[in-house]
Amino acid sequence: MTDRRTGVTLLGATGSIGRSTLRVVARHPDRYRIVALTGARRADTLDSLARDVDPDFVVLAHEPSAGFEPRWPGEWRYGPEQLAAAATGVEAGIVVNALVGYAGLESTLAALGAGRRLALANKESLVAGGELVLEAWRAGGGELVPVDSEHSAIHQCLVGRPPEEISRLILTASGGPFRSLPADRFASIKPEDALAHPTWSMGDKITVDSATLANKALEVIEAHLLFGVPYDRIDVVVHPPSIVHSFVEFRDGSTIAQMGHPSMEIPILYALSAPERLPNEFRPFDPIADGPLEFEPVREAEFPMFGLGVAAGRAGGTQPAAYNAANEVAVRAFLDHQLSFPGIAAVVEKVLTHMEPRPVSSLEDVEAADVEARSRAREAARTLS
Ligand code: NAD
Ligand code: MG
Repeated sequence: MTDRRTGVTLLGATGSIGRSTLRVVARHPDRYRIVALTGARRADTLDSLARDVDPDFVVLAHEPSAGFEPRWPGEWRYGPEQLAAAATGVEAGIVVNALVGYAGLESTLAALGAGRRLALANKESLVAGGELVLEAWRAGGGELVPVDSEHSAIHQCLVGRPPEEISRLILTASGGPFRSLPADRFASIKPEDALAHPTWSMGDKITVDSATLANKALEVIEAHLLFGVPYDRIDVVVHPPSIVHSFVEFRDGSTIAQMGHPSMEIPILYALSAPERLPNEFRPFDPIADGPLEFEPVREAEFPMFGLGVAAGRAGGTQPAAYNAANEVAVRAFLDHQLSFPGIAAVVEKVLTHMEPRPVSSLEDVEAADVEARSRAREAARTLS
């Protein structure tokens, strides 16, 4: 009997989005089958996930440590080049890119180029690749369905309406753990303070990005690229309860919002099933119990990573890739106690003022900007620490 289930290749299975995706797929065994799982370094974790779902193969992007003996008896592939190869695997109808950072770009390009449905959590690949990703999407004829909750919300509100009918996108932001902290206290913020997010439980990198609001700048760029809406018509509003995931204002005066409790399993399920809606066990939104739904403006002056990112998006070309790379380096240095919290923005600002946006026509153009920005950011972080 032929298997009618949709194959799912899950890149970044050992991470936060990866684990949530496995929970979502496990609730719909009649619809989806995991074809491949990938991880970076944690071979034991990947091994135990593989024993649970029994995929066709697994990929470990880095060589395992000496003495690692897999208990799952299936096919193990090693090396970063195997990630993009997994994204084009013959049976995979859907590729979930839950990698973190620039490392996901080649997989995003490969999945779209092969005409797959790409369920994209790895926003950094879209931001850094920009036009290149859009070209792969057009040329491959596949689908790009966002997993990011704000963009999933917009996708759901749009239901296919074209950019000219949209008068404004309003992305919501939780505001992160320092939403109301006075700026003169920012210098004493420790990594563990930044990792304590009030409403979402996520990987370390995006949690720090949420604390600096770099995440929201990446999301503004992501929205611009995904929905073709100019930057002038993309706004951000802080919404601490994280119930309204974003709004679309249409030219006829209607504003439509998508709501739900803050769980990534809802946008992940939608990215797999869209436009169909499958049953889910989540507690629905209750207007009385879950109110009031407060909104406040972004404190742009106190959170410079937001404005720097949006400016990089507006500058276009290689500048979003440079912003992203500098941020990745600065966040790592902050998590390693090598850089202060305000130092993240100082590093990124320094890198961007030294880099001119160049046009992007190939992966090499993006890579060159990524490499240069990383090297400048490491240097800037050294001089600041
Ligand atoms: P995470 O750190 O928890 O997981 C990242 C995964 O990528 C892991 O499986 C890790 O092994 C793998 N990985 C990391 N570096 C790699 C490399 N160089 N090569 C190969 N594999 C590598 O991150 P996360 O929180 O799950 O986030 C994943 C992506 O989803 C990010 O782009 C993030 O911005 C986005 N996102 C996450 C959330 C969330 O709730 N966690 C929400 C919205 C968007
Ligand atoms: Mg988001």
